[in-house]
Amino acid sequence: MSGTRILPAVTPESAFFWKAARAGRLEILRCEACRTWLHPPAGVCRECGSRDVSPVEVEPTGRVHSFTVNEQLWNPQQPPPYVLAIVALDGAEGVRLTTELVGVDRGEVEIGMAVRAVFEPQEADERVGLVLFEPDPDRPPDPAATAVDLIVPDRHAFGAKSSLTSEPAERRAVISGLGQSEVGRRIGRTDLDLTIEAALAAVADAGLERSDIDGISAYPGAGIGGPGFSGPDIYDVQDALGLSLGWHHSGAGGAGQLGAVIAAALAVSAGLATHVLCYRTVTEASAGKGGAKSGATGGMARAARAPGVYGWLMPYGAYSAANWIAMYATRYMHTFGLTREQLAGVALNDRRNAALNPKAVYRDPMDLDAYMEVRMVSTPLCLYDCDVPVDGSTAVVVSHRGTRADLAKPPVRIEAAGTALRGRPSWDQWSDLTTCVAADATAQMWSRTDLGPDDLDAAQLYDGFSILTLVWLEALGICGKGEGGEFVSEWESRLAHTGAFPLNTSGGQLSAGRLHGFGLLYEAALQLRGEATGRQIDTPEVMAVGAGGGPVGGCLLLTR
Ligand code: ZN
Repeated sequence: MSGTRILPAVTPESAFFWKAARAGRLEILRCEACRTWLHPPAGVCRECGSRDVSPVEVEPTGRVHSFTVNEQLWNPQQPPPYVLAIVALDGAEGVRLTTELVGVDRGEVEIGMAVRAVFEPQEADERVGLVLFEPDPDRPPDPAATAVDLIVPDRHAFGAKSSLTSEPAERRAVISGLGQSEVGRRIGRTDLDLTIEAALAAVADAGLERSDIDGISAYPGAGIGGPGFSGPDIYDVQDALGLSLGWHHSGAGGAGQLGAVIAAALAVSAGLATHVLCYRTVTEASAGKGGAKSGATGGMARAARAPGVYGWLMPYGAYSAANWIAMYATRYMHTFGLTREQLAGVALNDRRNAALNPKAVYRDPMDLDAYMEVRMVSTPLCLYDCDVPVDGSTAVVVSHRGTRADLAKPPVRIEAAGTALRGRPSWDQWSDLTTCVAADATAQMWSRTDLGPDDLDAAQLYDGFSILTLVWLEALGICGKGEGGEFVSEWESRLAHTGAFPLNTSGGQLSAGRLHGFGLLYEAALQLRGEATGRQIDTPEVMAVGAGGGPVGGCLLLTR
Protein backbone atom coordinates (compact mmCIF):
# COMPACT_ATOMS: atom_id res chain seq x y z
CA MET A 1 0.00 0.00 0.00
CA SER A 2 3.05 2.29 0.37
CA GLY A 3 2.88 5.20 -2.02
CA THR A 4 -0.90 5.36 -2.06
CA ARG A 5 -1.45 6.62 1.46
CA ILE A 6 -2.21 10.13 2.69
CA LEU A 7 0.86 10.95 4.76
CA PRO A 8 0.89 12.74 8.10
CA ALA A 9 2.04 16.31 8.42
CA VAL A 10 5.41 15.85 10.15
CA THR A 11 5.87 18.32 13.00
CA PRO A 12 8.77 18.97 15.39
CA GLU A 13 6.74 17.09 18.04
CA SER A 14 5.91 14.02 15.92
CA ALA A 15 9.03 13.72 13.75
CA PHE A 16 10.75 11.22 16.10
CA PHE A 17 7.80 8.82 15.92
CA TRP A 18 7.71 8.66 12.13
CA LYS A 19 11.51 8.50 11.88
CA ALA A 20 11.72 5.62 14.36
CA ALA A 21 8.98 3.73 12.54
CA ARG A 22 10.90 4.13 9.31
CA ALA A 23 13.87 2.49 11.03
CA GLY A 24 11.70 -0.35 12.31
CA ARG A 25 11.31 0.85 15.90
CA LEU A 26 8.32 1.93 17.93
CA GLU A 27 9.08 4.98 20.05
CA ILE A 28 6.67 6.74 22.37
CA LEU A 29 7.25 9.97 24.27
CA ARG A 30 7.61 9.57 28.03
CA CYS A 31 7.82 11.97 30.92
CA GLU A 32 11.16 11.46 32.67
CA ALA A 33 9.81 12.89 35.92
CA CYS A 34 6.71 10.75 36.47
CA ARG A 35 7.05 8.14 33.70
CA THR A 36 3.69 8.89 32.12
CA TRP A 37 3.50 7.89 28.46
CA LEU A 38 2.47 10.80 26.26
CA HIS A 39 0.71 10.33 22.94
CA PRO A 40 0.09 12.20 20.70
CA PRO A 41 3.42 13.77 21.62
CA ALA A 42 3.66 17.27 23.04
CA GLY A 43 6.50 19.00 24.83
CA VAL A 44 4.99 18.72 28.29
CA CYS A 45 3.64 16.02 30.61
CA ARG A 46 -0.11 16.28 30.97
CA GLU A 47 0.09 14.60 34.38
CA CYS A 48 2.85 16.42 36.25
CA GLY A 49 3.61 19.36 33.99
CA SER A 50 7.27 18.48 33.54
CA ARG A 51 8.85 19.48 30.27
CA ASP A 52 11.50 16.79 30.64
CA VAL A 53 10.02 14.46 28.05
CA SER A 54 11.82 12.20 25.60
CA PRO A 55 11.15 9.33 23.17
CA VAL A 56 11.64 5.82 24.51
CA GLU A 57 11.70 2.63 22.45
CA VAL A 58 8.93 0.24 23.45
CA GLU A 59 7.99 -3.33 22.54
CA PRO A 60 6.26 -3.19 19.15
CA THR A 61 3.33 -5.27 20.36
CA GLY A 62 -0.17 -4.65 21.62
CA ARG A 63 -3.77 -5.78 21.82
CA VAL A 64 -6.74 -4.88 19.65
CA HIS A 65 -8.84 -2.48 21.74
CA SER A 66 -11.42 -2.09 19.00
CA PHE A 67 -11.69 -2.49 15.25
CA THR A 68 -13.83 -1.99 12.15
CA VAL A 69 -13.84 -3.37 8.65
CA ASN A 70 -14.07 -0.36 6.38
CA GLU A 71 -16.29 -1.15 3.39
CA GLN A 72 -16.63 2.38 1.99
CA LEU A 73 -14.50 3.90 -0.74
CA TRP A 74 -13.02 7.13 0.63
CA ASN A 75 -9.81 7.31 -1.38
CA PRO A 76 -9.63 5.69 -4.83
CA GLN A 77 -6.02 4.74 -4.14
CA GLN A 78 -6.99 2.84 -1.01
CA PRO A 79 -9.86 0.60 -2.05
CA PRO A 80 -11.96 -1.23 0.57
CA PRO A 81 -12.32 -3.53 2.31
CA TYR A 82 -9.60 -3.20 4.89
CA VAL A 83 -9.40 -3.62 8.65
CA LEU A 84 -8.83 -0.63 10.91
CA ALA A 85 -8.02 -1.06 14.58
CA ILE A 86 -7.22 0.82 17.73
CA VAL A 87 -4.30 -1.01 19.31
CA ALA A 88 -3.44 -0.62 22.99
CA LEU A 89 0.34 -0.88 23.31
CA ASP A 90 1.82 -3.47 25.67
CA GLY A 91 4.88 -1.38 26.46
CA ALA A 92 3.35 2.08 26.94
CA GLU A 93 0.48 2.02 29.39
CA GLY A 94 -2.53 4.04 28.32
CA VAL A 95 -1.31 4.68 24.77
CA ARG A 96 -3.35 3.54 21.79
CA LEU A 97 -2.58 3.75 18.08
CA THR A 98 -5.13 3.82 15.30
CA THR A 99 -3.75 1.57 12.60
CA GLU A 100 -4.42 -0.76 9.73
CA LEU A 101 -4.47 -4.44 10.64
CA VAL A 102 -2.84 -6.50 7.90
CA GLY A 103 -2.31 -10.20 7.28
CA VAL A 104 -5.56 -11.11 8.96
CA ASP A 105 -8.83 -12.68 7.89
CA ARG A 106 -11.49 -10.03 8.38
CA GLY A 107 -13.73 -12.48 10.17
CA GLU A 108 -11.09 -13.43 12.71
CA VAL A 109 -10.36 -10.05 14.24
CA GLU A 110 -11.47 -9.76 17.85
CA ILE A 111 -11.03 -7.41 20.76
CA GLY A 112 -8.08 -8.56 22.84
CA MET A 113 -6.28 -10.12 19.85
CA ALA A 114 -2.50 -9.99 20.25
CA VAL A 115 -0.77 -8.05 17.48
CA ARG A 116 2.73 -6.96 16.53
CA ALA A 117 3.92 -4.01 14.54
CA VAL A 118 4.69 -4.07 10.83
CA PHE A 119 6.72 -1.03 9.89
CA GLU A 120 6.06 0.46 6.48
CA PRO A 121 8.59 3.01 5.19
CA GLN A 122 6.96 5.54 2.88
CA GLU A 123 8.50 6.09 -0.53
CA ALA A 124 7.01 9.54 -0.85
CA ASP A 125 8.69 10.91 2.28
CA GLU A 126 12.02 9.71 3.59
CA ARG A 127 11.13 11.02 7.05
CA VAL A 128 8.09 8.79 7.47
CA GLY A 129 7.39 5.19 8.32
CA LEU A 130 3.94 4.02 9.35
CA VAL A 131 3.11 1.50 12.08
CA LEU A 132 0.74 -1.18 10.87
CA PHE A 133 -0.02 -4.28 12.90
CA GLU A 134 -0.51 -7.97 12.17
CA PRO A 135 -1.70 -10.87 14.34
CA ASP A 136 0.86 -12.28 16.75
CA PRO A 137 0.26 -16.04 16.55
CA ASP A 138 2.43 -16.77 19.57
CA ARG A 139 0.07 -15.13 22.07
CA PRO A 140 -3.59 -16.09 22.64
CA PRO A 141 -6.32 -13.45 22.64
CA ASP A 142 -7.17 -11.88 26.00
CA PRO A 143 -10.17 -9.53 25.95
CA ALA A 144 -9.56 -8.57 29.59
CA ALA A 145 -6.16 -7.16 28.62
CA THR A 146 -7.78 -4.09 27.10
CA ALA A 147 -10.35 -3.44 29.83
CA VAL A 148 -10.84 0.17 30.91
CA ASP A 149 -12.78 1.85 33.66
CA LEU A 150 -16.19 2.60 32.25
CA ILE A 151 -17.55 6.10 32.66
CA VAL A 152 -20.86 5.29 34.31
CA PRO A 153 -23.48 7.86 35.21
CA ASP A 154 -23.38 7.36 38.96
CA ARG A 155 -19.70 8.20 38.94
CA HIS A 156 -19.66 10.84 36.30
CA ALA A 157 -22.93 12.31 35.17
CA PHE A 158 -24.82 12.93 38.36
CA GLY A 159 -22.09 12.73 40.94
CA ALA A 160 -21.78 16.40 41.75
CA LYS A 161 -24.68 18.78 42.01
CA SER A 162 -24.27 22.44 41.38
CA SER A 163 -21.94 24.52 43.46
CA LEU A 164 -23.31 27.60 41.74
CA THR A 165 -24.36 30.33 44.11
CA SER A 166 -26.02 32.45 41.44
CA GLU A 167 -28.27 31.76 38.50
CA PRO A 168 -26.51 30.15 35.52
CA ALA A 169 -25.79 32.86 32.98
CA GLU A 170 -27.29 30.93 30.08
CA ARG A 171 -30.68 31.16 31.78
CA ARG A 172 -30.80 34.88 30.97
CA ALA A 173 -31.10 33.94 27.29
CA VAL A 174 -34.05 32.55 25.35
CA ILE A 175 -34.56 31.18 21.86
CA SER A 176 -36.83 33.79 20.35
CA GLY A 177 -36.96 32.92 16.67
CA LEU A 178 -36.77 29.85 14.43
CA GLY A 179 -36.05 29.66 10.73
CA GLN A 180 -35.19 26.93 8.31
CA SER A 181 -34.54 27.02 4.60
CA GLU A 182 -35.71 24.57 2.04
CA VAL A 183 -34.08 21.22 2.91
CA GLY A 184 -33.31 18.52 0.41
CA ARG A 185 -30.92 16.37 -1.52
CA ARG A 186 -28.91 18.36 -4.02
CA ILE A 187 -30.93 21.53 -4.10
CA GLY A 188 -28.16 23.26 -6.00
CA ARG A 189 -28.37 26.59 -4.16
CA THR A 190 -25.41 28.29 -2.51
CA ASP A 191 -24.81 28.05 1.21
CA LEU A 192 -25.16 31.83 1.49
CA ASP A 193 -28.52 31.78 -0.26
CA LEU A 194 -29.85 29.03 2.03
CA THR A 195 -28.53 30.84 5.09
CA ILE A 196 -30.22 34.10 4.14
CA GLU A 197 -33.52 32.26 3.72
CA ALA A 198 -33.24 30.67 7.16
CA ALA A 199 -31.96 33.85 8.82
CA LEU A 200 -34.70 36.10 7.50
CA ALA A 201 -37.30 33.51 8.55
CA ALA A 202 -35.87 33.33 12.07
CA VAL A 203 -35.74 37.10 12.47
CA ALA A 204 -39.32 37.47 11.26
CA ASP A 205 -40.44 34.59 13.47
CA ALA A 206 -39.05 36.40 16.49
CA GLY A 207 -41.00 39.51 15.52
CA LEU A 208 -37.77 41.42 14.98
CA GLU A 209 -36.22 43.45 12.19
CA ARG A 210 -32.78 42.91 10.69
CA SER A 211 -31.71 46.10 12.44
CA ASP A 212 -32.49 44.45 15.81
CA ILE A 213 -29.87 41.75 15.25
CA ASP A 214 -26.62 42.80 16.91
CA GLY A 215 -24.85 39.47 17.20
CA ILE A 216 -24.00 36.54 14.96
CA SER A 217 -22.75 33.05 15.79
CA ALA A 218 -22.12 30.12 13.46
CA TYR A 219 -20.74 26.62 13.54
CA PRO A 220 -18.17 26.16 12.19
CA GLY A 221 -17.57 29.14 9.90
CA ALA A 222 -16.11 29.08 6.42
CA GLY A 223 -13.24 27.02 5.12
CA ILE A 224 -13.45 24.05 7.47
CA GLY A 225 -13.93 20.40 6.56
CA GLY A 226 -14.87 18.84 3.28
CA PRO A 227 -16.98 20.21 0.45
CA GLY A 228 -20.29 21.62 1.62
CA PHE A 229 -19.50 21.13 5.31
CA SER A 230 -18.82 24.57 6.69
CA GLY A 231 -21.52 26.92 5.41
CA PRO A 232 -20.90 30.59 4.70
CA ASP A 233 -18.55 32.84 6.59
CA ILE A 234 -20.17 35.03 9.27
CA TYR A 235 -18.71 38.09 7.54
CA ASP A 236 -20.49 37.27 4.31
CA VAL A 237 -23.76 36.85 6.19
CA GLN A 238 -23.22 40.07 8.13
CA ASP A 239 -22.55 41.96 4.93
CA ALA A 240 -25.42 40.41 2.99
CA LEU A 241 -27.92 41.24 5.72
CA GLY A 242 -26.41 44.63 6.57
CA LEU A 243 -25.99 43.78 10.24
CA SER A 244 -24.41 46.07 12.82
CA LEU A 245 -22.84 43.77 15.39
CA GLY A 246 -21.84 44.12 19.01
CA TRP A 247 -20.56 40.54 19.07
CA HIS A 248 -19.66 37.89 16.51
CA HIS A 249 -18.28 34.40 16.73
CA SER A 250 -17.63 31.28 14.68
CA GLY A 251 -15.32 28.29 14.66
CA ALA A 252 -15.09 24.54 14.83
CA GLY A 253 -13.75 24.58 18.39
CA GLY A 254 -16.11 24.65 21.34
CA ALA A 255 -18.98 22.48 22.46
CA GLY A 256 -19.80 21.08 19.06
CA GLN A 257 -22.56 22.47 16.91
CA LEU A 258 -24.65 23.68 19.84
CA GLY A 259 -21.59 25.56 21.07
CA ALA A 260 -22.58 28.33 18.65
CA VAL A 261 -25.90 28.73 20.47
CA ILE A 262 -24.39 28.42 23.93
CA ALA A 263 -21.81 31.08 23.08
CA ALA A 264 -24.63 33.32 21.89
CA ALA A 265 -26.52 32.81 25.15
CA LEU A 266 -23.44 33.78 27.13
CA ALA A 267 -22.82 36.83 24.95
CA VAL A 268 -26.40 37.96 25.50
CA SER A 269 -26.07 37.35 29.22
CA ALA A 270 -22.86 39.35 29.30
CA GLY A 271 -24.46 42.29 27.55
CA LEU A 272 -22.32 42.10 24.42
CA ALA A 273 -25.42 41.66 22.26
CA THR A 274 -29.20 41.51 22.68
CA HIS A 275 -30.42 39.46 19.71
CA VAL A 276 -27.95 36.99 18.19
CA LEU A 277 -28.52 35.23 14.89
CA CYS A 278 -27.14 31.66 15.08
CA TYR A 279 -26.94 29.40 12.05
CA ARG A 280 -25.67 26.08 10.76
CA THR A 281 -25.70 25.56 7.01
CA VAL A 282 -24.69 22.52 4.99
CA THR A 283 -24.58 21.84 1.27
CA GLU A 284 -22.99 18.42 1.59
CA ALA A 285 -25.49 16.74 -0.73
CA SER A 286 -24.75 19.02 -3.66
CA ALA A 287 -21.05 18.92 -2.85
CA GLY A 288 -21.18 15.12 -2.88
CA LYS A 289 -22.08 14.92 -6.57
CA GLY A 290 -19.48 13.01 -8.50
CA GLY A 291 -18.47 10.83 -5.60
CA ALA A 292 -16.73 13.33 -3.35
CA LYS A 293 -17.16 12.47 0.28
CA SER A 294 -18.67 14.95 2.65
CA GLY A 295 -18.15 15.42 6.36
CA ALA A 296 -15.60 17.05 8.56
CA THR A 297 -12.67 15.38 6.79
CA GLY A 298 -14.10 14.87 3.33
CA GLY A 299 -11.66 17.23 1.68
CA MET A 300 -8.70 15.73 3.43
CA ALA A 301 -9.03 12.39 1.66
CA ARG A 302 -7.57 14.25 -1.27
CA ALA A 303 -5.22 16.42 0.74
CA ALA A 304 -1.47 16.11 0.42
CA ARG A 305 -0.97 15.80 4.19
CA ALA A 306 -3.19 14.93 7.11
CA PRO A 307 -2.79 17.69 9.71
CA GLY A 308 -2.87 17.52 13.50
CA VAL A 309 -4.92 14.73 15.02
CA TYR A 310 -5.84 13.46 11.55
CA GLY A 311 -2.19 12.61 10.96
CA TRP A 312 -2.59 9.72 13.40
CA LEU A 313 -5.72 8.41 11.66
CA MET A 314 -5.88 9.07 7.94
CA PRO A 315 -2.53 7.55 6.82
CA TYR A 316 -4.00 4.17 7.77
CA GLY A 317 -7.24 4.70 5.88
CA ALA A 318 -9.33 5.90 8.83
CA TYR A 319 -10.62 8.83 6.81
CA SER A 320 -14.04 9.41 8.24
CA ALA A 321 -15.95 9.82 11.46
CA ALA A 322 -17.78 6.72 10.20
CA ASN A 323 -14.58 4.74 10.82
CA TRP A 324 -13.73 6.35 14.15
CA ILE A 325 -17.26 6.00 15.52
CA ALA A 326 -17.55 2.46 14.13
CA MET A 327 -14.75 1.50 16.49
CA TYR A 328 -16.73 3.04 19.37
CA ALA A 329 -19.69 0.91 18.26
CA THR A 330 -17.60 -2.27 18.10
CA ARG A 331 -16.32 -1.61 21.61
CA TYR A 332 -19.83 -0.88 22.84
CA MET A 333 -21.15 -4.13 21.37
CA HIS A 334 -18.26 -6.06 22.93
CA THR A 335 -18.83 -4.49 26.36
CA PHE A 336 -22.61 -4.57 26.61
CA GLY A 337 -23.72 -7.23 24.13
CA LEU A 338 -25.57 -4.74 21.96
CA THR A 339 -26.95 -6.41 18.81
CA ARG A 340 -27.56 -4.91 15.39
CA GLU A 341 -31.22 -5.76 15.78
CA GLN A 342 -31.36 -3.53 18.88
CA LEU A 343 -29.30 -0.73 17.35
CA ALA A 344 -31.69 -0.74 14.37
CA GLY A 345 -34.26 0.85 16.68
CA VAL A 346 -32.60 4.25 16.24
CA ALA A 347 -32.87 4.18 12.45
CA LEU A 348 -36.33 2.59 12.39
CA ASN A 349 -37.69 5.12 14.87
CA ASP A 350 -36.22 7.96 12.83
CA ARG A 351 -37.77 6.65 9.63
CA ARG A 352 -41.18 6.14 11.20
CA ASN A 353 -41.08 9.68 12.66
CA ALA A 354 -39.84 11.19 9.40
CA ALA A 355 -43.07 10.15 7.70
CA LEU A 356 -44.77 12.87 9.76
CA ASN A 357 -42.26 15.57 8.80
CA PRO A 358 -42.91 17.05 5.34
CA LYS A 359 -39.32 18.36 5.17
CA ALA A 360 -37.70 15.00 5.86
CA VAL A 361 -35.74 13.65 2.89
CA TYR A 362 -36.46 9.95 3.46
CA ARG A 363 -40.07 9.23 4.40
CA ASP A 364 -40.75 5.83 2.86
CA PRO A 365 -41.28 3.04 5.39
CA MET A 366 -38.25 0.98 6.35
CA ASP A 367 -38.34 -2.32 8.22
CA LEU A 368 -35.81 -4.40 10.10
CA ASP A 369 -35.12 -6.64 7.09
CA ALA A 370 -34.15 -3.64 4.99
CA TYR A 371 -31.86 -2.43 7.75
CA MET A 372 -30.19 -5.81 8.19
CA GLU A 373 -29.66 -6.30 4.46
CA VAL A 374 -28.31 -2.90 3.44
CA ARG A 375 -24.58 -2.62 2.79
CA MET A 376 -22.02 -1.94 5.48
CA VAL A 377 -20.15 1.37 5.57
CA SER A 378 -17.74 0.48 8.38
CA THR A 379 -18.67 -2.50 10.52
CA PRO A 380 -20.84 -2.66 12.58
CA LEU A 381 -22.36 0.51 11.08
CA CYS A 382 -24.43 0.01 7.94
CA LEU A 383 -25.67 2.65 5.52
CA TYR A 384 -28.78 3.26 7.62
CA ASP A 385 -26.67 3.90 10.73
CA CYS A 386 -25.07 6.91 9.00
CA ASP A 387 -26.88 10.19 8.54
CA VAL A 388 -27.83 11.38 5.08
CA PRO A 389 -26.12 14.45 3.57
CA VAL A 390 -28.52 17.23 2.62
CA ASP A 391 -28.52 20.87 1.65
CA GLY A 392 -30.18 23.20 4.11
CA SER A 393 -29.77 25.91 6.68
CA THR A 394 -31.23 26.24 10.15
CA ALA A 395 -31.20 29.53 12.05
CA VAL A 396 -32.30 30.51 15.53
CA VAL A 397 -32.33 33.88 17.22
CA VAL A 398 -31.02 33.92 20.79
CA SER A 399 -32.28 36.95 22.73
CA HIS A 400 -31.95 38.35 26.21
CA ARG A 401 -34.98 37.28 28.20
CA GLY A 402 -35.56 40.91 29.14
CA THR A 403 -36.75 41.54 25.58
CA ARG A 404 -39.62 39.12 25.98
CA ALA A 405 -42.25 41.86 25.55
CA ASP A 406 -40.81 42.68 22.11
CA LEU A 407 -41.02 39.13 20.81
CA ALA A 408 -43.72 37.72 18.57
CA LYS A 409 -43.97 34.31 20.22
CA PRO A 410 -43.48 32.78 23.65
CA PRO A 411 -39.75 32.16 23.81
CA VAL A 412 -38.14 28.80 24.48
CA ARG A 413 -36.15 29.09 27.66
CA ILE A 414 -32.59 27.86 28.11
CA GLU A 415 -32.48 26.12 31.46
CA ALA A 416 -28.90 24.83 31.36
CA ALA A 417 -26.01 24.23 29.00
CA GLY A 418 -23.37 21.51 28.93
CA THR A 419 -19.97 22.35 27.46
CA ALA A 420 -17.49 20.32 29.49
CA LEU A 421 -14.65 18.31 27.97
CA ARG A 422 -12.74 16.41 30.64
CA GLY A 423 -11.56 13.31 28.78
CA ARG A 424 -8.68 13.11 26.31
CA PRO A 425 -9.85 15.14 23.29
CA SER A 426 -8.99 12.50 20.78
CA TRP A 427 -10.89 9.88 18.83
CA ASP A 428 -8.64 7.02 19.90
CA GLN A 429 -7.23 8.06 23.30
CA TRP A 430 -10.70 8.76 24.75
CA SER A 431 -10.66 6.37 27.70
CA ASP A 432 -14.08 4.73 27.55
CA LEU A 433 -15.10 4.26 23.93
CA THR A 434 -18.62 3.32 25.05
CA THR A 435 -19.09 6.99 25.94
CA CYS A 436 -18.22 10.28 24.26
CA VAL A 437 -17.92 13.88 25.39
CA ALA A 438 -21.64 13.50 26.09
CA ALA A 439 -20.63 12.06 29.48
CA ASP A 440 -18.84 15.30 30.41
CA ALA A 441 -21.32 17.73 28.85
CA THR A 442 -24.42 16.15 30.37
CA ALA A 443 -22.81 15.95 33.81
CA GLN A 444 -22.17 19.66 33.70
CA MET A 445 -25.63 20.44 32.36
CA TRP A 446 -27.37 18.54 35.15
CA SER A 447 -25.12 20.24 37.71
CA ARG A 448 -26.55 23.61 36.63
CA THR A 449 -30.22 22.88 37.21
CA ASP A 450 -32.54 21.43 39.80
CA LEU A 451 -34.18 19.40 37.06
CA GLY A 452 -33.08 15.85 36.35
CA PRO A 453 -33.55 13.11 33.80
CA ASP A 454 -36.94 12.16 35.24
CA ASP A 455 -38.23 15.63 34.31
CA LEU A 456 -37.54 15.15 30.61
CA ASP A 457 -40.63 14.87 28.42
CA ALA A 458 -38.65 14.08 25.28
CA ALA A 459 -35.23 14.43 23.71
CA GLN A 460 -33.66 15.27 20.37
CA LEU A 461 -30.34 13.45 20.36
CA TYR A 462 -27.58 13.36 17.83
CA ASP A 463 -27.74 10.51 15.36
CA GLY A 464 -24.98 11.35 12.93
CA PHE A 465 -24.27 7.70 13.62
CA SER A 466 -26.93 5.63 15.38
CA ILE A 467 -24.62 4.48 18.17
CA LEU A 468 -24.26 8.10 19.27
CA THR A 469 -27.94 8.28 20.14
CA LEU A 470 -27.42 5.44 22.61
CA VAL A 471 -24.43 7.26 24.05
CA TRP A 472 -26.51 10.43 24.59
CA LEU A 473 -29.46 8.53 26.06
CA GLU A 474 -27.17 6.92 28.62
CA ALA A 475 -25.16 10.03 29.38
CA LEU A 476 -28.35 11.95 30.08
CA GLY A 477 -29.56 9.25 32.43
CA ILE A 478 -32.64 8.51 30.33
CA CYS A 479 -31.63 4.87 30.57
CA GLY A 480 -28.85 3.10 32.43
CA LYS A 481 -25.31 2.62 31.12
CA GLY A 482 -25.29 -0.21 28.62
CA GLU A 483 -29.08 -0.26 28.42
CA GLY A 484 -29.43 1.99 25.37
CA GLY A 485 -29.89 -0.89 22.96
CA GLU A 486 -32.70 -2.40 24.98
CA PHE A 487 -34.25 1.06 25.35
CA VAL A 488 -34.37 1.82 21.61
CA SER A 489 -35.34 -1.72 20.65
CA GLU A 490 -38.79 -0.85 21.98
CA TRP A 491 -38.97 2.08 19.59
CA GLU A 492 -42.39 1.25 18.18
CA SER A 493 -44.24 1.78 21.43
CA ARG A 494 -41.83 4.04 23.28
CA LEU A 495 -40.20 6.58 21.00
CA ALA A 496 -42.98 7.96 18.77
CA HIS A 497 -44.36 11.46 19.42
CA THR A 498 -47.26 9.73 21.17
CA GLY A 499 -45.00 7.32 23.09
CA ALA A 500 -43.77 7.33 26.66
CA PHE A 501 -40.48 8.99 25.66
CA PRO A 502 -40.59 10.72 22.26
CA LEU A 503 -37.17 10.72 20.59
CA ASN A 504 -36.00 12.49 17.43
CA THR A 505 -39.54 13.36 16.44
CA SER A 506 -38.58 15.05 13.15
CA GLY A 507 -36.93 11.90 11.84
CA GLY A 508 -33.49 12.83 13.07
CA GLN A 509 -30.48 13.11 10.82
CA LEU A 510 -30.78 9.53 9.61
CA SER A 511 -34.05 10.20 7.79
CA ALA A 512 -34.83 13.92 7.94
CA GLY A 513 -31.30 14.82 6.86
CA ARG A 514 -27.97 15.82 8.29
CA LEU A 515 -28.59 19.40 9.38
CA HIS A 516 -25.77 18.75 11.82
CA GLY A 517 -27.30 19.25 15.23
CA PHE A 518 -29.31 22.36 14.42
CA GLY A 519 -32.14 20.31 12.93
CA LEU A 520 -32.53 18.65 16.33
CA LEU A 521 -32.48 21.99 18.12
CA TYR A 522 -35.08 23.36 15.69
CA GLU A 523 -37.35 20.38 16.31
CA ALA A 524 -37.02 20.71 20.10
CA ALA A 525 -37.98 24.38 19.97
CA LEU A 526 -40.89 23.71 17.61
CA GLN A 527 -42.19 21.02 19.97
CA LEU A 528 -41.88 23.22 23.05
CA ARG A 529 -43.84 25.94 21.22
CA GLY A 530 -46.52 23.45 20.25
CA GLU A 531 -45.91 24.03 16.54
CA ALA A 532 -44.79 20.60 15.36
CA THR A 533 -47.88 20.12 13.26
CA GLY A 534 -48.76 16.50 12.62
CA ARG A 535 -46.24 15.15 15.11
CA GLN A 536 -46.79 17.38 18.13
CA ILE A 537 -45.95 15.88 21.53
CA ASP A 538 -48.68 16.44 24.08
CA THR A 539 -47.66 19.59 26.05
CA PRO A 540 -43.94 18.99 26.51
CA GLU A 541 -42.36 21.12 29.22
CA VAL A 542 -38.72 20.00 29.36
CA MET A 543 -36.57 18.72 26.55
CA ALA A 544 -32.89 17.86 26.11
CA VAL A 545 -30.91 18.42 22.95
CA GLY A 546 -27.51 16.77 22.57
CA ALA A 547 -25.29 17.12 19.54
CA GLY A 548 -21.91 15.71 18.62
CA GLY A 549 -19.82 12.59 19.03
CA GLY A 550 -16.36 11.47 20.05
CA PRO A 551 -14.63 14.40 21.79
CA VAL A 552 -16.79 17.03 20.03
CA GLY A 553 -20.20 17.92 21.43
CA GLY A 554 -22.44 19.82 23.79
CA CYS A 555 -26.00 19.87 25.09
CA LEU A 556 -28.86 22.12 26.09
CA LEU A 557 -31.79 21.72 28.45
CA LEU A 558 -34.76 23.67 27.12
CA THR A 559 -38.09 24.49 28.73
CA ARG A 560 -41.22 26.25 27.61
ZN1 ZN B 1 5.07 13.70 34.25
